[in-house]
Amino acid sequence: MAKKTVADLDVSGKRVLVRVDFNVPLDDSQNVTDDLRIRMALPTIQSILERGGRVILMSHLGRPKGEIVASLSLKPAADKLAELLGHDVAFATDTVGNDAAAKVAALQDGQVLVLENLRFNPGEDRKSDNSVKEPFAETLASFADVYVNDAFGTCHRTDSSMYLVPLKMAGKPRVAGVLLLKEIRYLADTISNPDRPFVAIVGGAKVSDKINVIRNLLTVCDKVLIGGAMAYTFELARGNKVGKSLVEPDKIELARELMASAGDKLELPVDTHCGDDFSADCNKVVVTAGQIPDDFEGLDIGPETAKRYAGLVSSAKTVVWNGPMGVCEMPPFDAGTRIVAEAIANSGATSIIGGGDSAAAIQQLGFADKVTHISTGGGASLEMLEGKKFEAVELLDEE
Ligand code: AMP
Repeated sequence: MAKKTVADLDVSGKRVLVRVDFNVPLDDSQNVTDDLRIRMALPTIQSILERGGRVILMSHLGRPKGEIVASLSLKPAADKLAELLGHDVAFATDTVGNDAAAKVAALQDGQVLVLENLRFNPGEDRKSDNSVKEPFAETLASFADVYVNDAFGTCHRTDSSMYLVPLKMAGKPRVAGVLLLKEIRYLADTISNPDRPFVAIVGGAKVSDKINVIRNLLTVCDKVLIGGAMAYTFELARGNKVGKSLVEPDKIELARELMASAGDKLELPVDTHCGDDFSADCNKVVVTAGQIPDDFEGLDIGPETAKRYAGLVSSAKTVVWNGPMGVCEMPPFDAGTRIVAEAIANSGATSIIGGGDSAAAIQQLGFADKVTHISTGGGASLEMLEGKKFEAVELLDEE
């Protein structure tokens, strides 16, 4: 997937409409409590500004459902961007109204404008009527000479700003931003053409959430290591004892099929760290996998499994990780996740961390600088690992 990028274009004097993901958390006083998503968009923004382009940024924040919700304004994100850029940032109080139109028209080379939350307008919702979406997308498309998609976290969606707006800009350059290109490079390109051995680690709460990820990874990986609560559904499928562990009885058949087709590529835990209650100070015991006593539940992989998984990761050339090995928010049941994360960080392999909990875990553990790529997407990163094609990405210009 070789997409043209913003660096390939002459943006001098051009109005460049950039779809970013500024869906940042805000506290009650409207302060941005985590600016990672804004920082991740800086390379694209800076690259356009440095070359004399005029940047128009658009994003959603939260789920205002087509109505103006003051607490979900993008103004705090615009202010945070100004602080990070060390540069004035203009803000339009609407997306396709008079204020946006006037500020777009007034924008000069090397200036930045942030439009208000796209989802304040029902035209952004992919499920809205065409009569609502079309004029919204047409106005946004009319604002610029170039379209840039740098909103990886929303790429699995066909909301208007992701899909209809670039469709309406056909004939003008429609390219990938720096962040999007990096996500595609690792989550799609590296995975389809990996250095081997290629080891994937998949954990988390439910098999049902990750079934397609596991299926797809089994087609390209040498080993897929399973952790988290999803391991107990596999044990149940084997007819083993899972006590009161979190399981999905309706996914047993699916688990059986996966085990049968995967052969020895699929690795399940060999031991389990259990508790008699879902709490840090419960009574604890380590048992052989599939032998969980009736009044206990599995809360982490056991030490033998952690050692085994760490060993497999250490000898890998490519590693993909999505989902914790246990209840990583509740020590001591974070141990399995910590040991696997450390092995990934020290492996020297090309290491790709899927979004969500595993991304947060690798950052909290201080290993962020020792892995190759931490995805900024949650749902989008899972769907890319499933091997899905994204319409919002497909329509962007090829190199
Ligand atoms: P996911 O969003 O599917 O990646 O799942 C992450 C969540 O799974 C985390 O909040 C973990 O606490 C939870 N989890 C992982 N292992 C277990 C387990 N053995 N029992 C209960 N919850 C678990």
